[in-house]
Amino acid sequence: MKILDLYGREKPVLSLEIFPPRVDYPLETIFETLDHLQTLNPGYISVTYGAGGSNRARTVEIAARIKREYGIESLAHLTCVRHTQAEVDQILDQLAEEGIRNILALRGDLPEDDPDFDPSQQDYGFAYELINDICKKADFGVAAAAYPAGHPECPRLKDDLCNLKHKVDCGVDFLITQLFFDNRIYYDFIDKALAIKIDCPVVPGIMPVLNARSIRRTIYLCGASIPGPLLQLVDKYEHDADSMEKAGIEYASMQVDDLLTSGVPGIHLYTMNKHRQIIEIVNNVGLVK
Ligand code: FAD
Repeated sequence: MKILDLYGREKPVLSLEIFPPRVDYPLETIFETLDHLQTLNPGYISVTYGAGGSNRARTVEIAARIKREYGIESLAHLTCVRHTQAEVDQILDQLAEEGIRNILALRGDLPEDDPDFDPSQQDYGFAYELINDICKKADFGVAAAAYPAGHPECPRLKDDLCNLKHKVDCGVDFLITQLFFDNRIYYDFIDKALAIKIDCPVVPGIMPVLNARSIRRTIYLCGASIPGPLLQLVDKYEHDADSMEKAGIEYASMQVDDLLTSGVPGIHLYTMNKHRQIIEIVNNVGLVK
């Protein structure tokens, strides 16, 4: 099934993102997490690719098992920046063989350790080129990433939006956003996207702040800004892990609740492979089917 059909049928769709365990961790640990997360009856589960040094082959295996063993639709992330076209072709064959019908097509981050890295000299410099190849290859459902506060490499949001429009026009079914902590950033972005006729579902991605230290790194990596009230919580509970977690769950629940009230097509939760806290948030907002 193509995930786009879900957005047409049921509203709002709950989706969850997980990442493969590092190669030195047993693969099975992720299935212990999934045993819990499946009780939420998500519309689909997405599996990241290569992020944080995870073994890329694990993405395909986990996405396949989510479909086969849990009967839940999966969305396999695929980044292209350091792949050749021949490698991508091979991965697409593998995904198709495993019955995976939906791909989140991404460029991927440029390597931090190589300042001379020039994406224009690669087979793939931007996600839209990957999207073109996926659409030529087979009838996959294709999702892509959107950045409500703008992508960190693009100095002007206006240009980033034009690039996004081009990406969508290459064959994207729906978009999932980068995390944000102030819903007004998402609502403004939707207005601007609609104004240039980006009219596919734009699903807000929400990451609960459960740990003061890790949130600083995440914000550094993705360029998201942190609003005053959340910053105060992070400062207040920096050395009180339990209270930080409780406040983070509450903040994310409020954010999701407000988004649902505004009529979003779905909620995509960055689970960070945690289940107890994610289940609590979903229960708080009454999203369990
Ligand atoms: P693109 O859409 O190609 O955009 C990258 C930059 O290029 C932007 O600044 C854009 O404005 C600019 N651009 C695009 N087209 C043009 C053009 N024609 N001319 C000039 N400039 C252009 N990373 C991982 O490694 N693994 C993952 O699993 C992963 N999952 C993610 C999931 C989501 C929902 C999100 C939001 C991000 C994810 N990322 C992941 C991070 C992502 O790979 C990075 O943010 C990356 O830097 C950009 O990828 P993209 O697909 O958005 O790139």
